[in-house]
Amino acid sequence: LPEQEAFNIEYWLLEEAKLSRMPKPKSLAGRVAFITGGAGGIGSAIASKLLSEGACVVLADIDQVSLNEVTAGFAKTYGRDNVRGVKMDVTSEEAVVQAMNETALAFGGVDIVVNNAGITIAAPVEDTTLDLWNKNQAVMGTGYFLVGREGYRLLKRQNLGGSMVFICSKNAVAASPGASAYCAVKAGELHLARCMALEGAPHGIRVNVVNPDAVLRGSKIWQGPWREQRAASLRISQDELEEHYRKRSLLQRSVYPEDIAEGVYFFASDLSNKSTGNFLNVDAGNAASFTR
Ligand code: NAD
Repeated sequence: LPEQEAFNIEYWLLEEAKLSRMPKPKSLAGRVAFITGGAGGIGSAIASKLLSEGACVVLADIDQVSLNEVTAGFAKTYGRDNVRGVKMDVTSEEAVVQAMNETALAFGGVDIVVNNAGITIAAPVEDTTLDLWNKNQAVMGTGYFLVGREGYRLLKRQNLGGSMVFICSKNAVAASPGASAYCAVKAGELHLARCMALEGAPHGIRVNVVNPDAVLRGSKIWQGPWREQRAASLRISQDELEEHYRKRSLLQRSVYPEDIAEGVYFFASDLSNKSTGNFLNVDAGNAASFTR
């Protein structure tokens, strides 16, 4: 640089302005994320966030219709090469192994695994049939185990570290009335994540948990019998539910799928490279107080 230019403040200000106009490198560029329940409310918000940060995303879901719709939407925005939908039942060992292997082949590996697919059927313990108990355990107990194990095996084989994020629930750490089977399986998911964090640490594999409070908007769970059952157990109408959850939180704010996605992004990215075996409640402060 000519000497007078090096000391010219205007020159440096101009350079800085030029830099600020240049596109910032995306923090997840070159990474591949595998998301179960990716066609659902929270799963598709997670996919959207990770795609916007530059990751390639595989959405694995049992619901072919929603899967086609969500995948096509993302393909339009982010390009066909960056997103893929896979019909998969998390309770099937064969299907999970196949989907994970196909993802690795198609994208050259996997860096981020999000365990999210879930159902919500619940009842007070005295009315919980064995069938209801088994359904919860199959999707969210066995399902989280199978996806967790296969994701872990793949990350370990690649020997490049990686991040696994489990979407559990505030019910992983606190009970809700009339939801014993759901609460029990969510607590199990959280503890599985901690055990895997322990085993994964020497290999650079981090495993963390995001615990959402009630997320009514966008969630298919809240369109089914769960909505009616929650309203009945709280003795309020279904229309009052969202307001009920908002009001009992410290921040007096509703929690949306996009809020959960921000938490997942934190754990999936290098922002959290010193965190493993942790959980983050995304609950507008609900868990902080016994009085609400
Ligand atoms: P959602 O119903 O909108 O999405 C769940 C997705 O999982 C659906 O697309 C569904 O097809 C898929 N799925 C169900 N069974 C499957 C199976 N056997 N194999 C593959 N996919 C399957 O629900 P959501 O609200 O987005 O919930 C996502 C996760 O968040 C769940 O684990 C849920 O327990 C958890 N969670 C939700 C809330 C909430 O209030 N919405 C609160 C706490 C935790």
